[in-house]
Amino acid sequence: MASVVRITGAVQGVGFRPHVFRQARTAGYRGWVANSPEGVLIHLELDPEEAKAAVAVLLEQLPRSARVETVSITKAGSERLEGFEIRPSLLGASASAEILCDLAMCAACREEILDPGNRRYGYAYTSCTDCGPRYSVMTSLPYDRGNTTLASWPMCLECEAEYTNPLDRRFHAEPIGCPSCGPTFWLYLPGKKGGFARSRESGLLAIKGAAELLNEGEVVAVKGIGGYHLACNAADSLAIERLREAKYRKEKPFAVMVPDLETAAAIGHLGEREVALLSSPSAPIVLLRKRLEFAGVAPGSPYIGVMLAYTGVHHLLFESNAPRVVVMTSGNRSSEPIAFEDGDALGRFEGMASAVLCGERPIARRLDDSLAYPFGRAPLLRRSRGLAPAFSADLPWSYPVLGCGADLKGTVALAVAGKVATSQYLGDLGFEETRVAHRRTVTELAGMYGIGLDSCLVCSDLHPDYYTHRYAEELGELTGRAPLFFQHHRAHIASALAESASLNLRVVGIAMDGTGYGDDGTIWGGEFFTGCLEDGLVAAGSLEQGLLLGGDAAARRPLQALGGYLASDECWEMLADRKFAFDRQVLGAVDSMRTERGFSTPASSCGRLFDAMAAICGFVGVASFEGQAATWLESLAELASGGGGYDFPVESGLIGYQLALERAIVDRMAGVDPETISLKFHRGLARAVVEMTVALAKVADAEAAVLSGGVFQNRLLLELVEEGLTGAGLPVITNTRHSCNDENIALGQVVLGAFELATGRHGVDL
Ligand SMILES: [Zn+2]
Ligand SMILES: [Zn+2]
Repeated sequence: MASVVRITGAVQGVGFRPHVFRQARTAGYRGWVANSPEGVLIHLELDPEEAKAAVAVLLEQLPRSARVETVSITKAGSERLEGFEIRPSLLGASASAEILCDLAMCAACREEILDPGNRRYGYAYTSCTDCGPRYSVMTSLPYDRGNTTLASWPMCLECEAEYTNPLDRRFHAEPIGCPSCGPTFWLYLPGKKGGFARSRESGLLAIKGAAELLNEGEVVAVKGIGGYHLACNAADSLAIERLREAKYRKEKPFAVMVPDLETAAAIGHLGEREVALLSSPSAPIVLLRKRLEFAGVAPGSPYIGVMLAYTGVHHLLFESNAPRVVVMTSGNRSSEPIAFEDGDALGRFEGMASAVLCGERPIARRLDDSLAYPFGRAPLLRRSRGLAPAFSADLPWSYPVLGCGADLKGTVALAVAGKVATSQYLGDLGFEETRVAHRRTVTELAGMYGIGLDSCLVCSDLHPDYYTHRYAEELGELTGRAPLFFQHHRAHIASALAESASLNLRVVGIAMDGTGYGDDGTIWGGEFFTGCLEDGLVAAGSLEQGLLLGGDAAARRPLQALGGYLASDECWEMLADRKFAFDRQVLGAVDSMRTERGFSTPASSCGRLFDAMAAICGFVGVASFEGQAATWLESLAELASGGGGYDFPVESGLIGYQLALERAIVDRMAGVDPETISLKFHRGLARAVVEMTVALAKVADAEAAVLSGGVFQNRLLLELVEEGLTGAGLPVITNTRHSCNDENIALGQVVLGAFELATGRHGVDL
């Protein structure tokens, strides 16, 4: 008798089969292992009882990126096998999308490239089945050597021997290579005729040259896994100043890279969670509370973004005596997409960098560094390199549904056979390059699942001016199937419910956000919903509406947000007082906007309320990046010692903030410090959110509260609201796999679309 073992989880492309193979051989089991569409199948020439014990042995000390979710064992007929082998994949619909994440270099590979006696000494592109690039080199599916950007580098005999030996840790490591057969790095320096020209140095020598330039205070562009970084010495304030000028980036914090945890611990406070995130195979940037200040790196923030060296070229730079702390910021200007193609990079970095450390291995698609925030339950702010694409939720139906996402933080989600996969963060869809990446990602995700877009229900955002809205319409015209459009904040709530597998709960959904298009065509962003996904999420309350003076421009100018939100003319006039330090001219300009009310939209955006309060507390200028004023306001509150909360009356489904704004202005006039004002604002608002939620929960018979929307990236607000709700006996659900910002919208759209299909609403049918 024999048994079949079915294993699901992250078990493909992570060295799982070779691991099972080695364990089985050592233990003397007979049978085979193969990839299947659901995961991995193991055939064992043992009865199910014996197989159970054998599986425990096979699953001992799994490869570091493997994760087993379920194991089931069933009886099977004997195949009278003598040995144990790895069988070719049993390809059905498609392979798991989870296999494709890029992984930070493992310790074994790092040791090899630092060992002068090893044949891979100094070879930056070293990888194995435990580590290295995947999604960033994959050009099409199935994922094998011929479908990667390494296809044009034939393996040498030695590499091929490793690649074909099941006992080797490079068995089927698709990007395998070595100094004699693989791509290398070159250093490009300013040429005589302008532009960059390739210097003679390659490989380790090129990397040493770049390290030297960093030590001399130069800015060097370095090609990584998913794109180029601009690098400079973090301790060299002049270099940083030059980098800021070159990037047109005034104040937005830069991330830094360090060689090891020891150095990270010297820069910022490391707890268990920080250590785990920093050293995880996805190697994200982790926000650490600062211990050391590097002038100009993260000005005005109590945090610094730190990541560990994660690929060969980084390790070799540090090994070549590059500065211990290097600014590694995305290789772009301002908020443009990152450069990832060499020709484009060499052109774009002219005048920005003194040299370009260019690797020959092409990058198949742009992947930003992921960004982690080790607070609260949703530790992510940006989910990209190392974390995407990945499954983010399960649905009880098999409908194919596509979610096109929102514009500012573009992502794509696709549900097939009950699993929802979400793409990497694509960036601002205001740029044509990002739109190209968005369209390509849709095609690729569909390709991975082997499904045609014409069989998908296409879902997108309600906002008629969003690119993703128009894109869904175009797809609809192509496929002859009408797309569905969902309100932005319902999608936020649906995403959090799906991530926590709570699809059937009756809830109060609270979306505190920047801006989103509302059911009534006004701008929403401080919304309460009641109900459940099956019956629909009904808008049940919101922040009181104010005005966005000048529309979207108000997002950059906190004073403009205040001008549109503050009703009291008497208090408005107080802002002319020298204490507030507003520029007279700017104040005058906003003042006339207040009276004329041209180009303004009614809005209940909570993000703008934070901006308004930031203006009162002393944020007098223009925000140079998204969320700057709100983040600043939060860090002010952290410095406050006490004080109650402002009064935000909750009445007939509205949270009023006029009293709080007025009180804050009067307090400021009376000399109360901005730190205290900010804390009182956070506390008062949180209390009102809790009060409204508890009242709605009673009426709607809700079992839980759901928090989502970008404003909940504010840790203080999240904590205060969570504390209040839990205290009132309401369990709290928030995003756990995505951040609570717009990266989760695509997933939310897919969930809402699937429910429309399941309930037969709208008469859509697949
Ligand atoms: Zn490795
Ligand atoms: Zn080789």
